[in-house]
Amino acid sequence: MQNAGTDADKRPFTTHRVGARNDLIFIDFDGTISVKDTGIAVIDALDLDEAWEVEHQWRRGEIDSMECLRRQWGMVDLPPAAIYRMIDSFELDEGFNELAEAAIQIGAGLVVVSDGLDFYVDRMLGRLGWETCPGDTVLQRPRRCIPRYANHAQVTDHGVKITFPHRSDDCEQCGNCKTAHLMRLRPHFSRTIYLGDGHSDLCAARFADVVFAKDALAEDFTRAGRDFVRFDRLAEVNGVLLAPYKA
Ligand SMILES: [Mg+2]
Ligand SMILES: [Zn+2]
Repeated sequence: MQNAGTDADKRPFTTHRVGARNDLIFIDFDGTISVKDTGIAVIDALDLDEAWEVEHQWRRGEIDSMECLRRQWGMVDLPPAAIYRMIDSFELDEGFNELAEAAIQIGAGLVVVSDGLDFYVDRMLGRLGWETCPGDTVLQRPRRCIPRYANHAQVTDHGVKITFPHRSDDCEQCGNCKTAHLMRLRPHFSRTIYLGDGHSDLCAARFADVVFAKDALAEDFTRAGRDFVRFDRLAEVNGVLLAPYKA
């Protein structure tokens, strides 16, 4: 990324999908930075069949994500050290590092938006070598931390306690409403770019200028006839978004 310094922002765009100074990049965490959705990985690791029933209720829209998270994590009966050990075993997409470095070099804002839990987002991004900071830090540039919005959780000897500091009165589905963040931050940037994998990304992604999607989000966008770039690993996103900076 040595060439992505100050003169990079004077380069003409080769396509509208190339990242630029003053872009705002929204990136989902579970299934996008973590290879597998962390909640599902926990359910699978612990064989929590009842948690799958809760998951399906949420996917059918019968319960909101707050109830879903509280009930599922309420079934995790492990001491903190065992929870951390499990989280540390989950695979991450290391392509995130190049993307995050490039965002800093280019002068783009990058913010992680997760309707999962901050304790594992922070811990896993820490494993990639990053400190996290509150989401609104994305408005300050330059910065060396990863701004993130997630639901708040405390891992205690008596279970994982969850609170929802970002819940929005305008949204009945999310604990941490990605759309509310996007709408609030958007005026501070010239363009928004969204990267995600799930149904819970659909609402916010519809308001983005450029969308990179995988899995359920890619299917949703295909069904809706909307334009997007399909990806499986973040290296593919970097290949498009950072193409002129990689020469
Ligand atoms: Mg996801
Ligand atoms: Zn929402």
